[in-house]
Amino acid sequence: MVTLSVNDLVVRYQSQGKDVQAVDHVSFSCKDNESIGIAGESGCGKSTLGLAIMKTLQGNASVAGEILLDGRSILPMPDTEFTKEIRWKKVSMVFQGAMNSLDPVFTIKKQFEEILKKHNFGGDHKQAIEYAMSSVGLAHSVLDKYPHEISGGMKQRVIIAMALILKPKMLIADEPTTALDVLVQAQIMILLKKLKKEGLSIMLISHDLGIISEIAEKVGIMYAGQIVEFGNMEDIYKNPKHPYTIALLDSIPKLNETKKIIPLKGNPPSLVNPPSGCRFYDRCPQAMEKCKKEPPKIKTASGFVMCWLHE
Ligand code: SF4
Repeated sequence: MVTLSVNDLVVRYQSQGKDVQAVDHVSFSCKDNESIGIAGESGCGKSTLGLAIMKTLQGNASVAGEILLDGRSILPMPDTEFTKEIRWKKVSMVFQGAMNSLDPVFTIKKQFEEILKKHNFGGDHKQAIEYAMSSVGLAHSVLDKYPHEISGGMKQRVIIAMALILKPKMLIADEPTTALDVLVQAQIMILLKKLKKEGLSIMLISHDLGIISEIAEKVGIMYAGQIVEFGNMEDIYKNPKHPYTIALLDSIPKLNETKKIIPLKGNPPSLVNPPSGCRFYDRCPQAMEKCKKEPPKIKTASGFVMCWLHE
């Protein structure tokens, strides 16, 4: 298990001469034995947050703030030290759409070996690869196949096995079920739950709060680069406070309810020049005049909410 603490994290991208504030003063923590979900719509900064923790942001990104993993500050760490001690060994990531990045001209086994070589793994390669394959429920015979010979669900399991090969304590999974059919989605969630039960901490990044609620004890709701609500999953699921969280939950279809899904109108603000007040102002059904000011961070039973309604 691993403890993760993110304090006042800011990530900016320089793009076409413009400064894009992708992650804006984000703080949260995840203790030993906890799994966390980060939810929000496309472009809210949730993937950037995961990439910042893995220190794999592109060259046009600048990062400020602090990320502590088991008490060690990772942002000032040179990349060689991070690769040697942390990346893939303490924390690894299943990147969004990663199953499409499997190289079509190499067998799965060859691609596992590349990872072990890259990380200077000194142990028995065969044993490590077979252990990783077993932990995701794949037969060893899959190792001799090329990516086009296996299904989407198997490819995603291979990607998860690759992320687990050096036995990290934490896995960041970015939209691991997107683009899979519902049955395969359910199988991947069962696998993640099994891995969690075996002691892996999981940070699940998804636009789907329903999926996050299956696995996470804590959740952060991201909107336009900020975490607008954070707390225990159960508290937030049963008693959401921020109007954006309420809208996200209202967008989940429920089998036993005939209630119509209420779409959220409008778009998030531009992150090139975000408004100084509440970023949800233009879409919020409860917006007030004072919401044009930066919303306060109000303490809740298990976290916080950024909204003037809860002042
Ligand atoms: Fe809505 Fe105001 Fe709360 Fe923002 S601060 S979410 S505009 S009520």
